[in-house]
Amino acid sequence: MVSSPTMKTTNSRPVVLCLSGHDPSGGAGLQADIEALIAQGCHAAPTVTALTVQDTVNVSDFRVLDREWVLAQAHAVIADLPVAAVKLGMLGSVQMVETVLEIMQSLPGIPLVCDPVLRAGGGGALGKDEVGYAIRERLLPVAAIATPNLPEARILAELPEGTPDECAEKLLPFCRNLLITGGHGDETEVHNRLYTQDGQRHTFTCQRLPGSYHGSGCTLASALSGRLALGEELSSAVRTALDYTWRTLRDAEQPGHGQYVPRRLPLDFCP
Ligand code: PLP
Repeated sequence: MVSSPTMKTTNSRPVVLCLSGHDPSGGAGLQADIEALIAQGCHAAPTVTALTVQDTVNVSDFRVLDREWVLAQAHAVIADLPVAAVKLGMLGSVQMVETVLEIMQSLPGIPLVCDPVLRAGGGGALGKDEVGYAIRERLLPVAAIATPNLPEARILAELPEGTPDECAEKLLPFCRNLLITGGHGDETEVHNRLYTQDGQRHTFTCQRLPGSYHGSGCTLASALSGRLALGEELSSAVRTALDYTWRTLRDAEQPGHGQYVPRRLPLDFCP
């Protein structure tokens, strides 16, 4: 039977609205979000906030989309699809932070995963530090969880040499739950630290892999948003997303001349 365009199917996967930038190398940004969400069994609704010029080595330029274009994209998705979670990646400007806040007003109670993207894997800027401060003041309070790596947490906390605990102490008044990832740390193993709203702290430790990766933070935040969209409880969702991300890094490939790109989908996806 051919279904009519108005017919609702009962087997639709949970929808995650992704508000992220586009990376033409395919390692990070919206492509990372889409792949990681497919791997969780979710449907990504990729809404472009910014375009970047970059390869697997570094970013050389970016352009943030007009507010109206982002609102129009998001509202088209929201009017049509049952959004179960929202994932934020690169926003690029303080105005885009306000635009996201406006979009979230149409999605009361929907969990928001905030990856405060300010730098590309190669170190190039994807937004000024002011964008990070605006994320801290405006978006962390409405997010279910924020997922900064340590350099991002230090910018948000304005503690250039801060330890994860010092950054968390500064940021927790702004947010409900905070996951500071440890890939950029200097510990032998990677320590990913989850600070929850009930005052609990949990460290997820994993083996440190050699090499540097492009899109690991996007992969983690997207996988986490997918787990929340599926209804998984927060700390279990964090564990599942971290385990998945570690496997994508273990199996990463080097398609260009720079960083490794996580392998987010199985090779035999299409037999
Ligand atoms: N979003 C976009 C559009 C990017 O280009 C990048 C990095 O280049 C990121 C996010 C962050 O990438 P990562 O997951 O490596 O922190």
